[in-house]
Amino acid sequence: MGLSVLVVGGGIAGLAHAVAARRAGHEAEVLEVRPGWEAAGWGLSLTGPALRALRTLDLADACAEAGHPVHRTVHCDAEGVVRAVVEPPSVLGPGEPVEVGIGRPALHRILREAAAGLGATLRTGVSVASLCHEDGQVTARLSDGSARTPDYVVGADGVRSRTRAQLGLDVEPRYAGQMVWRALVERPDWASDVHVFAGASGTTGVIPISARQAYVFLTESAVEARPAPESELARRMRDLLAPFGGRFADVRDTITDPAQVVRRPVHTLFLTGPWHAGLGVLAGDSAHAPSPQMVSGAALAIEDAVVLAAEVTARPDALPEAFEAYQRRRHERARAVVETSVEIGRRERQGRHDEVRALHQSGHAAMAAPI
Ligand SMILES: Cc1cc2nc3c(=O)[nH]c(=O)nc-3n(C[C@H](O)[C@H](O)[C@H](O)COP(=O)(O)OP(=O)(O)OC[C@H]3O[C@@H](n4cnc5c(N)ncnc54)[C@H](O)[C@@H]3O)c2cc1C
Repeated sequence: MGLSVLVVGGGIAGLAHAVAARRAGHEAEVLEVRPGWEAAGWGLSLTGPALRALRTLDLADACAEAGHPVHRTVHCDAEGVVRAVVEPPSVLGPGEPVEVGIGRPALHRILREAAAGLGATLRTGVSVASLCHEDGQVTARLSDGSARTPDYVVGADGVRSRTRAQLGLDVEPRYAGQMVWRALVERPDWASDVHVFAGASGTTGVIPISARQAYVFLTESAVEARPAPESELARRMRDLLAPFGGRFADVRDTITDPAQVVRRPVHTLFLTGPWHAGLGVLAGDSAHAPSPQMVSGAALAIEDAVVLAAEVTARPDALPEAFEAYQRRRHERARAVVETSVEIGRRERQGRHDEVRALHQSGHAAMAAPI
């Protein structure tokens, strides 16, 4: 018999779990607190493990078509002189992309359309006001005054999860002392691979996300987590990128519109204790949020969604045991990614940029292991 799941949060983990749950024959309702579905417009890299998990949901090809498959990373110095071209094996197999760059709105649309197409109920502008466990049942009172009694609740509401607190699993996200920048740009012809530019001041790069678009990434270290006036974002990002020259300079100079730019504080989190209480369980950033430098938060979120659906389907009459089995399969992997990402941030803040690449490699090697 199918179960019913109430998913709190219509981001990557929540929508992916709705897809996985519907494919396994369960009822799924997703609540997104924002008034609409528009995802922030910057790009995202779907690494091999993310694509592998999307493949189990039959969505990897749609992401590759909507995004830009990448096979190589070109490492350059700050003047754009090529120092190395790295073509790692793809987690998906020979000839397959190593990663796919994609716009966040495109990824969210693919997940949303798949979930809705499979019959999940998707609602915006609504959240969970309270969760109450009684007589072996969970009751969710929603912000619109209605109530639900699903078989289980998934807290997929991100790093600042309210569900986590409602389940009594609270842990505070930690500010990593860094701000991460992304700018959406027109993709230059030479940027069909990932390009990384490393200089004494740090690292930037250009990631293609479609035939026409790419994003530029940058991490600003040792700064307070204060928002900057939006009107200054493009100029400030160009200033931070001033040490980089050569062909990168042409891309940098196209960052002129503040609407192209996002600047976000890096918050990391790892819940060392249980990720579940009663009939509620956490997935994605609400349980473990690595810093964006490891480019693996989305992969972890999609993997969680898939593994959780498999475990509840295997033990529909013993959900707390299913949640434990889910966490057993996820805990070490997520811990390793979060810890590696924190270490990357620490070395970046100390200016030890040449050590960062080795950490990336070991982190991604660990993520390549099957889930
Ligand atoms: C700048 C930046 C760049 C990044 N780049 C990459 C990358 O290239 N590759 C990668 O793998 N990862 C990247 N990450 C990390 C990745 O974005 C996250 O790990 C991933 O989005 C986690 O998915 P999630 O669904 O758990 O959380 P989220 O994506 O945060 O989704 C949570 C959703 O829940 C909703 N919500 C919040 N509270 C409530 C509530 N009370 N009720 C209902 N809904 C609620 C939110 O509105 C949101 O839609 C990046 C992160 C940042 C900040």
